[in-house]
Amino acid sequence: MIYYKTQEEIEFIRHSSLLVGKALAEVAKELKPGVTTAHIDKIAEDYIRSQNAKPAFKGYRGFPATLCVSVNAQVVHGIPGKYEIRDGDVVSVDCGVVFNGFYGDSAYTFPVGNVGEEAMKLLRVTKACLYKGIEQAVVGNRIGDISEAVQAHAENNGYGVVRELVGHGVGKYLHESPEVPNYGKKGAGPKMLEGLVIAIEPMINMGKRNVKQERDGWTITTSDGKPSAHFEHTIAVKPGRADILSSFAPIEEVLKLQQIEI
Ligand code: MG
Ligand code: MG
Repeated sequence: MIYYKTQEEIEFIRHSSLLVGKALAEVAKELKPGVTTAHIDKIAEDYIRSQNAKPAFKGYRGFPATLCVSVNAQVVHGIPGKYEIRDGDVVSVDCGVVFNGFYGDSAYTFPVGNVGEEAMKLLRVTKACLYKGIEQAVVGNRIGDISEAVQAHAENNGYGVVRELVGHGVGKYLHESPEVPNYGKKGAGPKMLEGLVIAIEPMINMGKRNVKQERDGWTITTSDGKPSAHFEHTIAVKPGRADILSSFAPIEEVLKLQQIEI
């Protein structure tokens, strides 16, 4: 069942979603070679708690951390730990926040140090896939319109679209109906109505679409070992144009100082 939100509820979701962006901006300041993924997890958790909110992922189905940190061939759900970030890594950071009973969910993929042009293109195309999907998230369209837009842009660039993990409704729970796949057909799936809030989150592989799960029971990695990228916004479906509830602006202010543009 899809739970449609009132405008008041959407504002609570916006609050949580904006906290995610600010937590990811704190992460952006710290991400450099030699830093452990556990360290950036602590930075995000401390920031979220300082705002009287809670990390949404910690304890979710037993996940042990505030962030999912997925490096290079890791697609999503990487567990922060002792790994030290290296020059040239691409680091996907996914974060959820719950405040006042409402969830926000957003993710960004960061290049660290000297990342090759090939990987930078993967990041740019994946971010563009997200916005192509968001353009379709308007009242009267169907979920498949989002899916096809994301898939087409990725595949037109020769990339693989992960099938096993999808976007989702979000709000009272971290994961609600409907599923929002990153592949599919225009005109298929549920029709979108005012009050629908969803997380759109393309996971795009430089190589083939296939993924595998690591033995830790969480981390998803590309089967061919090539890099993957992940960008996510929480959005409210509106007539004409979606309302993007999360924001990359705080993150990209930090990146601009580092002369990084995606
Ligand atoms: Mg997420
Ligand atoms: Mg999500």
